[in-house]
Amino acid sequence: MGGGAGGLELATQLGDRYGRGTRAHVTLVDRSRTHLWKPLLHEVAAGSMDIHAHQLDYLAQARWHKFTFVLGALAGLERQAKHILVAPVVDDEGVEILPARRIPYDTLVIAIGSESNDFGTPGVREHAFTIDNAWQAHLFHRRLVNTCFRANFAADGRVIDIAIVGAGATGVELAAELHNTIRVLAAYGLQAFDPARQIRLTILEAGPRILPGLPEHIVKGAMETLESLGVHVLVGDPVVEVGPAKVKTKGGREVAADFTVWAAGIKCPDVLREIDGLETNRANQLVVLPTLQTTRDADVFAIGDCAAVPWREGKNVPPRAQSAHQMSSHLVKAVRRRLAGQAPTDYRYRDFGSLVSLGNYETVGTLMGFLGGGSGSLRVEGMLAKLFYLSLYRLHIWALHGFWRMALDTLARWIRTQTDPKVKLH
Ligand SMILES: Cc1cc2nc3c(=O)[nH]c(=O)nc-3n(C[C@H](O)[C@H](O)[C@H](O)COP(=O)(O)OP(=O)(O)OC[C@H]3O[C@@H](n4cnc5c(N)ncnc54)[C@H](O)[C@@H]3O)c2cc1C
Repeated sequence: MGGGAGGLELATQLGDRYGRGTRAHVTLVDRSRTHLWKPLLHEVAAGSMDIHAHQLDYLAQARWHKFTFVLGALAGLERQAKHILVAPVVDDEGVEILPARRIPYDTLVIAIGSESNDFGTPGVREHAFTIDNAWQAHLFHRRLVNTCFRANFAADGRVIDIAIVGAGATGVELAAELHNTIRVLAAYGLQAFDPARQIRLTILEAGPRILPGLPEHIVKGAMETLESLGVHVLVGDPVVEVGPAKVKTKGGREVAADFTVWAAGIKCPDVLREIDGLETNRANQLVVLPTLQTTRDADVFAIGDCAAVPWREGKNVPPRAQSAHQMSSHLVKAVRRRLAGQAPTDYRYRDFGSLVSLGNYETVGTLMGFLGGGSGSLRVEGMLAKLFYLSLYRLHIWALHGFWRMALDTLARWIRTQTDPKVKLH
């Protein structure tokens, strides 16, 4: 259930192993028809990536890797009968395409990820963009481009204020990416529009510093880059209201915002809350045992952002693409053991570090584990950090398509970068 960073890799690998045999039948259910690796979304929003060039059709992947794809959103669960309830699918006019369905299972893996958490803040739903899926990222980009076109035509020097609420990796990376792409966009014929004077980027963070939870040297490197770009960073002052043209903070500030992007935290979809009696936490994550089985049903597993997996010092495994990838690899083994009648083993999270990409300007991070030279950690920045950052997506493509197709895809994309505009212009 859920074909994202974790679920699609799992369905692909299980399909490859069992799809042609009679021992198991693999079904992937997702509410979307196409997959886009979520860490790319801020690049889609900023316009440095075209979703159409990177989306993967679930039906094609299912055919290539011998699993069945079912389109529809998770609507509920009947654990007694071992059925997933899938919501009807309707078209843009509201006409039903597919009815509600019951999908049977013996082993269920829930991997439906997370979405932005507005913490009930007034105005977020009405006035802020969230970057939770490809469509939202695309809409944000389109509106931004239209606003720049309008400002260029008006040629009146008007200022466009962009407020990003939340200084986690998403907010910080988005700010830097926007700074770069708007300049490139302007260079493609917006002669009467000067981004240096007419674009004002502000990041607002409730906590005492940007990039909460990441090492100090990453914070320092990112702060220096943001300052050099002229991005305003306000920390220690939570946003309490979002309006059509400004955001208000608890400390009484009013920050102008023609665009507000809400990236201030995550929770899991409400459908998961105590779904058919399963244990969930305040963020709607399914509480799981170290084996990734849910605490109240050994036949239901959860992986990725929607799983609360115990880690260390009372903390859970962080919601990251690398965690989802590792959990998916663990479940490939768990399914093999299950089919052989063996007990599941415990999953152990291996933290390989963190990397923050500030557009074309800088990449900073820490590598851990064997990447960090054994048990220690290694600070990286510049070209080396950028290469590691880019390799994360390449590893996902490798897991989905195998080494040779990943290599061909990398070459094809490099060729396209030589012939296409540097940013999406529409
Ligand atoms: C802008 C952005 C940048 C990020 N950058 C990084 C990064 O640099 N490094 C990193 O490690 N992590 C990053 N992350 C976090 C990372 O993307 C997630 O941790 C990771 O994608 C989680 O994988 P997942 O498989 O749990 O869920 P997802 O990848 O989110 O996939 C969930 C899938 O479930 C489907 N789905 C959702 N709800 C339903 C439903 N009700 N019914 C059916 N299907 C459903 C969705 O369509 C999707 O296909 C970033 C996240 C964002 C938003």
